[in-house]
Amino acid sequence: MSEQYNGVKFSTFFIEEMAPENDPKLKQLMNWCNEFQKLNLTPISNGASSGNLSYRLQPGSNAFVITGTQLALNRRLSANNFVTVWDVDFTKKTVYAEGLCDPSSESMLHFAIYKMRPDINAIFHGHSEEMLNNPKPNTPITRNEAPYGTQELVGEVLQVLQNNNYLLIKNHGFLSLGANMDEAGNRMK
Ligand SMILES: [Zn+2]
Repeated sequence: MSEQYNGVKFSTFFIEEMAPENDPKLKQLMNWCNEFQKLNLTPISNGASSGNLSYRLQPGSNAFVITGTQLALNRRLSANNFVTVWDVDFTKKTVYAEGLCDPSSESMLHFAIYKMRPDINAIFHGHSEEMLNNPKPNTPITRNEAPYGTQELVGEVLQVLQNNNYLLIKNHGFLSLGANMDEAGNRMK
């Protein structure tokens, strides 16, 4: 199963210390976070949920709003628990963000997917032993195991992503993508 969490594996440059706009889209993401927790798709360990959910800010831009790292999704969430990621420099392993907490450890993965798939506007990542052990037929699965939060893992996912909207990360978890949040979320119900 997934390795233990020991922090984010990139540095974050804060463009501004400001929470994302508390608009209907963020409210929708908060609801999906709570729902994922209820469905046990982001199991809690050491007080934090294992998973990360995001939506693209607007078409044509790769900026997105994502859960903060080490966040428990079973509580009442506020805009302060989310971070806007504007850009990622893979060479410098730097995430350029705006927020009041550190962005999710898988922020580089979300960025790479939004960049590769302009049709995708929501990415929900969670952990489910059951789904890993009993994958539905024809589910793409990454070939090699890679540590969470690394560019190695990003590479593994991009290799099998193609036009798939659902895939498994070997010995780790799942990714559910959608043209919108409901599409990414309802698939997992
Ligand atoms: Zn994960």
